[in-house]
Amino acid sequence: QNVTAAQWSVNGGALGTTDLTVPGANLFGANVFTIDEQRQRLPKHVFQQLLATLEAGQPLEPSLADAVAQAMREWAMEKGATHYTHWFQPLTGLTAEKHDSFYNPTGDGHAIAEFSGKELVQGEPDASSFPTGGIRATFEARGYTAWDPTSPAFILDNPNGTFLCIPTAFVSWTGEALDHKIPLLRSMDALSRCAIKALKLFGDTEAQRIFTTVGPEQEYFLIDEQYYFERPDLYTTGRTLFGAKPPKGHELDEHYFGSIPERVLAFMMESEEELRKLGVPVKTRHNEVAPAQYELAPIFENSNVGSDHQQLTMQIMQNVARRYGFVCLLHEKPFAGVNGSGKHNNWSMGTDTGHNLLNPGDTPDENAQFLFFCAAVIKAVNKHQALLRASVANIGQDHRLGANEAPPAIISIFLGAELEQAFTKIATGKGRRVKKGLMGLGAEVLPKLPRDGGDRNRTSPFAFTGNKFEFRALGSSMSLGFVNTVLNTIVAEAIDELTVELEKQLKAAKGDIGVAVPLVVKGVWEDDSAIIFNGDGYSEEWHAEAERRGLHNLPTTPDALPWIVNKQTVKAFETYNVLSERELQSRYDVFVEQYATKVNIEAETAASMARTMILPAAVRHLAQLRAGGVDALVEEVEPLITELHARLLDLEKANDHDGPEGGLAHAKYMRDTVITAMNAVREIADRLERIVADDLWPLPKYSEMLFIK
Ligand code: ADP
Ligand code: MG
Repeated sequence: QNVTAAQWSVNGGALGTTDLTVPGANLFGANVFTIDEQRQRLPKHVFQQLLATLEAGQPLEPSLADAVAQAMREWAMEKGATHYTHWFQPLTGLTAEKHDSFYNPTGDGHAIAEFSGKELVQGEPDASSFPTGGIRATFEARGYTAWDPTSPAFILDNPNGTFLCIPTAFVSWTGEALDHKIPLLRSMDALSRCAIKALKLFGDTEAQRIFTTVGPEQEYFLIDEQYYFERPDLYTTGRTLFGAKPPKGHELDEHYFGSIPERVLAFMMESEEELRKLGVPVKTRHNEVAPAQYELAPIFENSNVGSDHQQLTMQIMQNVARRYGFVCLLHEKPFAGVNGSGKHNNWSMGTDTGHNLLNPGDTPDENAQFLFFCAAVIKAVNKHQALLRASVANIGQDHRLGANEAPPAIISIFLGAELEQAFTKIATGKGRRVKKGLMGLGAEVLPKLPRDGGDRNRTSPFAFTGNKFEFRALGSSMSLGFVNTVLNTIVAEAIDELTVELEKQLKAAKGDIGVAVPLVVKGVWEDDSAIIFNGDGYSEEWHAEAERRGLHNLPTTPDALPWIVNKQTVKAFETYNVLSERELQSRYDVFVEQYATKVNIEAETAASMARTMILPAAVRHLAQLRAGGVDALVEEVEPLITELHARLLDLEKANDHDGPEGGLAHAKYMRDTVITAMNAVREIADRLERIVADDLWPLPKYSEMLFIK
């Protein structure tokens, strides 16, 4: 499982090291301004300086920007680009772009292509309508975009043209982060600083920088676009607000890992080809649990590039789906009663010399180091469990987390039996003999460690899987930015605190790392092992047990979000210069408002569909029954219509009422009053769906959407 240094580092793994004998390999990175491309096109001294910047994470000297801009423009124009855009990630969780032409008129009826260093480095989109949570008052409504040279520029092409995309950060002119990229980069720096300091104590003086890594597994649905257009709920909210459970669900388990239908496969192959051209190292595709549900996973990359690539992946999949008459649904819960979609966030840390810090090693020394970093993760996740929960909160997730298909809303860590035994042994000095299949270490102080992750526990939200942790509670529509910012920051804090502890123990043990590390690890185990749980996370018993242990159970978004501005969050984020209190507050405000706004859109959509589509269909059906003189059937349907109407009036009333003023109180009103009213309407509507004549029912049904491929 060794990785190359390049895999951790700046421009993603295989870029520049493509094996051209592999079919399709010559496409890889074809639309990326790769390191190789830059080496060929830039004057030598500029290229050297650029590399130094990338490796050390230092800002690029402005005088070099002109040279880079020119090379970039020439490359892009050879690929047919006419425009460029700064490409950034505002707090909507989506990406934003504003295109400018390379051409400038010369005044004599001609135009020349120009692209200056200044235009590369800084842009000023009219950004006053991006969410900022009050950071930017309208009188100073300027935000600007700033080039991120550590994520490679790329071109997006379609049959009608091509444009250059330059990954950028988005900041207010007071220097505050307005996006998901800046804090992610800052958190990677923070973790690098802390981990390098720790590594020195283990005698590693070679590593200059640590990169955090991410490998996301993306779940999604594909449905025929005809059905999508016939459902206002799908095209306005991304999920079905009505729909009775189909007679056939995933009880038969015939879809999971089944053979991939031809139209779906064609979609997958074309998306993957586009992604390969963009340098996204796509790797795995398969059918998922629910009918019409699939998954795509790339090979991991450093967190910044991986996160950019994840945004591109979601965008490309949605675009390509349309070419095949599909719509790609990224919502966490498009269909009630059917498995929802998540995104597993595989996470680790590695040195620029190619060592994965979460890889249990072959020698006692490597092992001590592994245990130290693993203990830091345990400590961080236990302390900031509620913040981690908040980092994956959104309206879609509220239907999924804890619903027996996804991890519960309680954060816990799965270590696997062997690793847990190893920790217990260190902490208590006791423990069973290590089973076969484990590595012999030849040192008695440190226990033997499992060689690979072995057993899997799919119900755990945060699982150790051999040489990385897998955070499984992300929603399918999410940007990776904030989640990984949180992970990096809290682990940086824990590493930092444990480093202080290790220094102390080393002093006491006269520099013997084999004595000092177990003592540090023991301390963590004593303080933080309540977060460790190897059992079934879906079970009722776990909820009760977690409560006894004092773990947080935060079932809905409004329960979780306040942890973003909790005191210990602010302290960690300010200490490691990731986000200031004001920046955290702005995120909190934006997320709370997004939640309330989205519930409102759902509720208005539900009310309108119930009134203008479902009620009329039911009334027509009733009229036909009356005309046919079938009294028994009339008696069955009539009360349902009366009930639907009454509940609809309640929903409309709830929608008209603004509820209490103020962010969180308003969000809670939406959750408790509005969503409840919506569910009440749906319950009756779904019963009517099963009764009303099929030719009168105005909406495509679950069985059609899920089973017609
Ligand atoms: P699964 O969880 O489905 O069993 P795998 O174990 O094959 O899947 O890996 C899932 C993902 O984990 C892949 O995207 C892979 O690139 C990623 N991954 C592997 N090693 C690391 C690492 N060190 N850091 C981050 N992600 C990693
Ligand atoms: Mg996984």
